[in-house]
Amino acid sequence: MIKVGKQEIDDRWGTLVMSLESEDRYSRQVRFAEIGEAGQRKLGAAQVAIVGCGATGSVLASLLARAGVGALQIIDRDYVEPSNLQRQSLFDESDAAESLPKAIAAARKIAAFNSQIVVEPKVADLTPANVEELLAGAQLILDGTDNFETRYLVNDWAVKNSLPWIYTAAVGSYAATLNILPGKTACLACIFPDPPNGMIETCETAGILNSAVNLGASIAATEALKILVGDEARVRRTLLSFDLWRNERAEVTAEKPRLGCRACGMRNFIHIAGEGRPHITLCGRNSVQIHEKHRPIDLVELGDKLRPHGSVRHNDFVLKFWREPYEITLFPDGRAIIKGTTDTSVARSLYARYVGS
Ligand SMILES: [Zn+2]
Repeated sequence: MIKVGKQEIDDRWGTLVMSLESEDRYSRQVRFAEIGEAGQRKLGAAQVAIVGCGATGSVLASLLARAGVGALQIIDRDYVEPSNLQRQSLFDESDAAESLPKAIAAARKIAAFNSQIVVEPKVADLTPANVEELLAGAQLILDGTDNFETRYLVNDWAVKNSLPWIYTAAVGSYAATLNILPGKTACLACIFPDPPNGMIETCETAGILNSAVNLGASIAATEALKILVGDEARVRRTLLSFDLWRNERAEVTAEKPRLGCRACGMRNFIHIAGEGRPHITLCGRNSVQIHEKHRPIDLVELGDKLRPHGSVRHNDFVLKFWREPYEITLFPDGRAIIKGTTDTSVARSLYARYVGS
């Protein structure tokens, strides 16, 4: 006679309940033939990194967690603020009141609707120094960032390690997204060899519609599912963009890598080496300097954009912007001194938010 201990019965019962629950949970997605049972198993075994968990990252994380992607690494350097709630769908008023780190708040929210998957929150700024550690194990990387600096770093790392990644950006009523299959399709540096020059619009200056973010992230999440279940033939090979307010849609081919591309052609990964990154130092008590970014700034134009967000004063040589508790001093070559913090990731975040990246 075989004896079975109570613990063993509990474990078996637990496993059975879990698998029945799991079958039911994903039943409508399994019924979708392109996913099916085999696809669902692949999703359950998958590990995906989401870099940045603001508006885009919230939608990506939420959709993939509900779809049953087994493990998510959520990397974000920011805290939840009231102004996030209009579009960052994983957060609520109590997260903002507590100033919870977004990665932590996201992990808690996901645990409440899918406790079967593993979410690893990482409160950090993705940099050349920690990219290896933070992205370790991921088989796919999704872009939820708000800046080109981090995107080029992700691109270099993904191309170097032959990992697929998906670029997604949204501002105003505009959203754009691109799938990168290293060695097969164009990479980010094939299409944009250099970061955008001069003033670029940010969500702080141009505003943002939550619907534009949701559209871009929904398309990216669907492409992620195709990659994870192995339906590579269906993965879109274009840079796709929409302007929802102006009813415009555009596609640029990304079918093939660009000959001579610095990243995927010459395999010159300057962003992993940290060369593309502005040098940041602590300067004096309670301030951080972001060194020259080689990106000339029109102080008059920037002053007009910042005026609704705080007090601004400028002359031909310098612009000062006050937004409690920070004072940002900007120079025409892009250099900035940010007073009110000694935390370089806060300084980097303020710069990305108000000036661009
Ligand atoms: Zn390339």
